[in-house]
Amino acid sequence: MKLILLGAPGAGKGTVAKLLTNIDGSVQISTGDILRGAVTAGTELGKEAEGYMKRGDLVPDTLIMGIMETRLQEPDCEKGFLLDGFPRTIPQAEELTALLERLDITLDMAVEIDVPKDIILDRLCTRRTCENPECQAIYNVKSNPPKVEGICDKCGAKAIQREDETEEAISHRLATYNEKTAPLIGFYKDAGLLMSVPAVSSDAVIDAVKGKLNI
Ligand code: ADP
Ligand code: ZN
Repeated sequence: MKLILLGAPGAGKGTVAKLLTNIDGSVQISTGDILRGAVTAGTELGKEAEGYMKRGDLVPDTLIMGIMETRLQEPDCEKGFLLDGFPRTIPQAEELTALLERLDITLDMAVEIDVPKDIILDRLCTRRTCENPECQAIYNVKSNPPKVEGICDKCGAKAIQREDETEEAISHRLATYNEKTAPLIGFYKDAGLLMSVPAVSSDAVIDAVKGKLNI
């Protein structure tokens, strides 16, 4: 399957993407994970992106498009991909349309995970992320804590609160989402590609996707 996952930070795009990879071997492509990996590794890309990310600002479109152009041409994308955190702006969406046309790739749909704002806020404040760039497992101190506090179950690295998950950075990220990313819902609706799902649970989203794709 070839899907775009849309939704506010904390809507569960990453969780849904991981569950969907189990269905047909499609790969999850998270620009956030790629960028955090680059920051930890101290690459040129990481150095350029770091400041924006800490503040909860978007990284410039040109950097993101460079990452995606390379990533979408890697062989593991042939089976399918789940775009998680990209596109994030109308210009990114327009460039993605052109890029996919060039690569002769057809999207199945854009799935909007629709979560009430109070739930989003609570989730982001209680979220913990594994700091190992190869892992980046996600926990929640209330609903899904690691077995040992502060330690990732999967790899043993530290599960930490992300630097952009302080209250101030979170409200900034949500404002950025409303201003820059929410318009993508209309963009994909006009393109006839949108499916909106109220995200009662990740499983409900998976069922809706399966139903729509007949799998
Ligand atoms: P979220 O939990 O907000 O969905 P992500 O892990 O997707 O977080 O992204 C973390 C940060 O990485 C964003 O706040 C932004 O600075 C940067 N980022 C990720 N994807 C993009 C993108 N497509 N365009 C611009 N910046 C991005
Ligand atoms: Zn881990």
